[in-house]
Amino acid sequence: MKDNILRLSKSCLGDEEKNAVQKVLDKEFLGMGAEVLKFEKLLTEFFSRPVVCVSNGTAALHIALQAAEIGDGDEVLVQSLTYIASFQAISATGATPVACDVDEGTLCINLSDAEKRLTNKTKAIMPVHFAGGVGALDEVYEFAQKYNLRVIEDAAHAFGTLHKERRVGSFGDIACFSFDGIKNITSGEGGCIVTNDEKVLKIARDARLLGVQNDTEKRFSGGRSWEFDVINQGWRYHMSDIMAAIGIEQLNRFPEFLKKRQNLAKLYDNFFIDTGIETLKQDYDSVVPHIYTLQLPVDIDRDYIRLKLDQLGIQTGVHYYPNHYLSLYKDKSNQRKIVDRLYKTILSIPMHPEITDRDAQFIFKCIRELIV
Ligand SMILES: *Cc1c(COP(=O)(O)O)cnc(C)c1O
Repeated sequence: MKDNILRLSKSCLGDEEKNAVQKVLDKEFLGMGAEVLKFEKLLTEFFSRPVVCVSNGTAALHIALQAAEIGDGDEVLVQSLTYIASFQAISATGATPVACDVDEGTLCINLSDAEKRLTNKTKAIMPVHFAGGVGALDEVYEFAQKYNLRVIEDAAHAFGTLHKERRVGSFGDIACFSFDGIKNITSGEGGCIVTNDEKVLKIARDARLLGVQNDTEKRFSGGRSWEFDVINQGWRYHMSDIMAAIGIEQLNRFPEFLKKRQNLAKLYDNFFIDTGIETLKQDYDSVVPHIYTLQLPVDIDRDYIRLKLDQLGIQTGVHYYPNHYLSLYKDKSNQRKIVDRLYKTILSIPMHPEITDRDAQFIFKCIRELIV
């Protein structure tokens, strides 16, 4: 269905996905079976690493943390400027998310701020690949090595992004992706964990099926466990065949989505040069942008601009309201200088494969006219 509103983000679904879902419905088996097995295999080829598919990106982060033995009393360093999912996944394990500042040019985690927040309870760091860019990821791994931390990458925005010619997820400790409706590819809802760590893989595979040992293997061969043991807390976090069927088609179409997202970001970058409006410093031959975030001049009323753009049929967003402002996650040192300064200036504009060059031109022109 087309509408006249330029949406901030959207799912792009065609006959391929609809037919694939129809086939699953016709089989009258909707659980975790052949389609999930196939999607995992295709993703394993994509990442050159084992993959565990789950019900959403938050679930992926939650059981990745659990499998890395993060829990009660532990602390995890994470940037404040992220979707609430990163924080909730950490607190779901019983650990405490420690909100860190970001780097100005990338909006990824600021390591000098993170370093100040280290304690003897710090067990892990969760870098969030904001808008698809990875920030100082090599330095994150050096930092983690120095302080003996696990790294759980929140790569929900970064499906397909290359870092030094290597795909995010194909290297490092643990990476988690989201396939929710608006991410770079979707399976309706969905997510996955990518890692080489056998122990993490084993725990994650069981944990997605209520901790039932080896149930994944049974389900993938068309059966299910009737008598079994459970040694760890698990969750109802598996992916269904309906979701995987959508995901398989989306993965197939990903080269087309990638190109459109990268071209749109390059076009926007060109428009906004020398306008006083800052854009993220990314190389869009490597980064696959999930969102496109501007930093407006400080004297501009961002919310007024949003209202005006909305009236012109242009949807915008704010990524994100800082997590350290939330009642649940407030702490004594309630200050993150860069986030505190920037969050009132950030504005995300439409970014998805169906935004045409003309749409982009129109969006730019409207913003220009509002900010003179
Ligand atoms: C989307 C997202 C998630 C969570 O993924 P869901 O599939 O929505 O649960 C986690 N972190 C970030 C940064 C996200 O954008």
